Amino acid sequence: MPSEFALIRNYLTGLGASRDDVLVDSGDDCALVQVPAGASLALTMDTLVAGVHFFADVDPYTLGHKALAVNLSDLAAMGAEPAWVTLALTLPNDDQSWLAAFAAGFANLANAHGVRLIGGDTTQGPLSITIQAHGLIPADQHPLCRHGAQPGDLIVVSGTLGDAALALRQLLAQQIPDPWLRQRLEQPTPRIALGQALRPLASAAIDLSDGLVSDLGHLLTASGCGAEINLARLPLSAAVAAEISTSNDWQLPLAGGDDYELCFTVPPEHAGRLESLAAQLGCQLTVIGTVDESKTLRGRDLDGELITLPGGYEHFVASGSQPGARCSTTTLV
Ligand code: ADP
Ligand code: MG
Repeated sequence: MPSEFALIRNYLTGLGASRDDVLVDSGDDCALVQVPAGASLALTMDTLVAGVHFFADVDPYTLGHKALAVNLSDLAAMGAEPAWVTLALTLPNDDQSWLAAFAAGFANLANAHGVRLIGGDTTQGPLSITIQAHGLIPADQHPLCRHGAQPGDLIVVSGTLGDAALALRQLLAQQIPDPWLRQRLEQPTPRIALGQALRPLASAAIDLSDGLVSDLGHLLTASGCGAEINLARLPLSAAVAAEISTSNDWQLPLAGGDDYELCFTVPPEHAGRLESLAAQLGCQLTVIGTVDESKTLRGRDLDGELITLPGGYEHFVASGSQPGARCSTTTLV
């Protein structure tokens, strides 16, 4: 049986891109990195717990990807360039094939974004993964914050909404999701390039982890504004559109979690740049509504009628024992 140190050395050391700004890599008491003069360091941390955030028997390769992706998504939402990550891993046993696959999924995404794993902690216990991601915002650039939206700004989302929630719904019903849909749940794409491109354009931004209504609500609260969104404009994949056309249930795109798309606000004078940005990044960008002076978030259905918007995912509220337990709170702001 390998020791903790052998597991770290064999599977977790040297993961990701090599970077000149790593002065002391994983293996010492601390890692040392060089932050460029004047740059801001963006720090974020997310934990994924077996049975809460993922099925304990999920493919470890996709889990390695997702654990990193959810953290990179927070850096994207801030407009930061990903640089270094640390990883606290709690493992129930020393299953080396599991760890090798987890490390491979992690490393693949880390390499794609020039990220280096520079240290962490490894313990035994119920399966749980905590990652702290470190990103850089250059000295002459503005971060994207949740505050800053102004009445009249357009509300934009990237990609499509509700795919991950539909895949989860199918898995909970013992159905096998289509591979594309399953990938939206298990291997989300952090919108890193979009986040950086939005620094000079967006007035506020957030990434969608808990559902559109909940996360847009946080942005609006931080900005001291309200908004109206239009269901007819929500960007839906064919799979989610088909589900809604039979059920007329809009929970998936409005309250489904795990989208990891960006939701941001753009002053009207910059709206003309969205189309070319979408083409340049190969990423769908859709205007779904407008910020206003009210303190509420309202939705209009396909007939233009005002509707009550569902809440998103919250821990500690109506908590369930399975991944994806959802609460049914309604309003916000
Ligand atoms: P210490 O006892 O000084 O805290 P550890 O024994 O916990 O050090 O870790 C030894 C080295 O291995 C450290 O450099 C640490 O950053 C690294 N390390 C431990 N766990 C991980 C991990 N899950 N991923 C990456 N590096 C790790
Ligand atoms: Mg030490």
